[in-house]
Amino acid sequence: MSAEVLESYLSGRWQRGEGVETRLYDPVRGDELATVSAKRLDLAGALAYARRNGQGSLRGMSYGQRAKLLGAVSDVLVANRARYEEIAIANSGNTKNDAAIDIDGGIGTLKYYARLGSGLGDARMLLDEKPVRLAKAENYQAVHVLLPRRGVAVHINAFNFPSWGLWEKAAVSLLAGVPLFAKPASATALLTHAMVKDVIEARVLPEGALSLLCGSAGDLLSVLTSEDVVAFTGSADTAARVRGDPNVIARNVPVNIEADSINAALLAPGAAAGSAAYDAFLREVVREMTVKAGQKCTAIRRIFVSSEQADAVTDALADKLKAIKVGDPRDAETRMGPLVTRSQQKAALEGVQRLVAEASIVCGGNAPQLPGIDAQKSAFIAPTLMRAKDGATAKAVHEVEIFGPAATVVPYRDLDDACALVARGGGSLVASVYGEDKDSLLRILAELGPGHGRILAVDSAIATAHTGHGIVMPQCNHGGPGRAGAGEELGGAYGLRFYHQRLAVQGSSDLLAGVQAQAASLH
Ligand code: NAP
Repeated sequence: MSAEVLESYLSGRWQRGEGVETRLYDPVRGDELATVSAKRLDLAGALAYARRNGQGSLRGMSYGQRAKLLGAVSDVLVANRARYEEIAIANSGNTKNDAAIDIDGGIGTLKYYARLGSGLGDARMLLDEKPVRLAKAENYQAVHVLLPRRGVAVHINAFNFPSWGLWEKAAVSLLAGVPLFAKPASATALLTHAMVKDVIEARVLPEGALSLLCGSAGDLLSVLTSEDVVAFTGSADTAARVRGDPNVIARNVPVNIEADSINAALLAPGAAAGSAAYDAFLREVVREMTVKAGQKCTAIRRIFVSSEQADAVTDALADKLKAIKVGDPRDAETRMGPLVTRSQQKAALEGVQRLVAEASIVCGGNAPQLPGIDAQKSAFIAPTLMRAKDGATAKAVHEVEIFGPAATVVPYRDLDDACALVARGGGSLVASVYGEDKDSLLRILAELGPGHGRILAVDSAIATAHTGHGIVMPQCNHGGPGRAGAGEELGGAYGLRFYHQRLAVQGSSDLLAGVQAQAASLH
């Protein structure tokens, strides 16, 4: 692949920014693959174009018609899947399995919302609740409906999911009738660019329904109107800048934030070695640490085990992690590839250094020397297991997100102690708990629930049947409180809310019957 200039698709045409803002590399070979720049692109004009054209055509369709658009987009992506896999391997250092999570995760989410949308049929709005009587007169009532918003959905995505991040947001906003303006992270924009190009060339979406900005966000936030929304995924630092943008604040632009998270896996007290839950716990921790080289916002970062089991669990995990074959993802035997860039590698190694004062390194913690791979050009990190010296006094263990294949075993005294330690994460996307005792699992759910957006509870009944700690299913809520950003995405039809205005209609029961006739139930 020769270095390509990735253009942006704005105002209905491909446009090139001035100069080079970011160079995209192969994180195994160090080859330059592409460049991006958004300098001097007219973002205000592009947003106005999307509002006028994209919004105009999507608004005239029912949910059922828009669902067909999602199906058509997924067909285009399926037809080109092999090429996307090559790009994911080259630009993100993905193994085939990593690439499948990103690519097929995006296609699967589009298909899921296409099915959901076809069930909403000819409706033009969503019914949130049944009508209620407001006064003595029986025929004076109110009903809550959701109406598609009139602006553009700006989707700012993180580098780790150039496909899933794009389509999990796009599926929901397109079904809601809101055109999207996608801004991928620069370092891995190659895959997003290729997918959008194919969809635009296939002409399966109305003009203006899909825009793409390759390069930095520039003045994007400052040209939003109060009709637009922003769905952001990325680090907590950038999230704070997006939320705090003066124009976003002044115009009350709705912002959904999906940020980082120090997610936990908890082996419940009494889950005996060799039990189905115990084995599932070990498998899942190793999988979460190594899939996509740990570059998943949902990956397990803290591993909670009782003090009595801490030695055995640490040894078992270390044995499994040392056996993971790290290397070039083009090699069929490789189980884990590199991080996406050398700056991510540097940040992850610095993160490990921040933890070593309060945790000891059990394995990894370095950039491994790999045969045939230049350590000066590549971005590898060995699977890294640490063990907290004292979970209660530790700080960095609960606060520093090492965005790589690294996690820390944190021993706990009892169930209360375990739940208190997990809560030190300050709000997370997901926790998984493993045990055989239903009462303990229910107690853990009640304790951890308010600090999480999703909990996977694994007992022997689902030990081999569950979909995984880190895999985001479109049926389930994605997002978490506190440092996770306090956002909510997906979760079936519920995810459509963000792209709608909730409206209470007060009127005669006859009029409300007319409103209901145009609406599909959200529930
Ligand atoms: P990042 O550096 O915060 O960047 C995220 C996105 O924001 C990129 O598209 C970036 O563009 C853009 N951006 C940077 N500065 C901006 C500004 N001032 N205004 C508007 N946009 C701006 O995050 P990242 O390094 O790509 O991603 C890794 C992080 O994302 C991790 O912390 C991970 O936990 C988190 N994450 C969370 C989720 C979730 O669903 N909760 C999912 C995936 C990842 P450029 O690339 O052009 O700078």
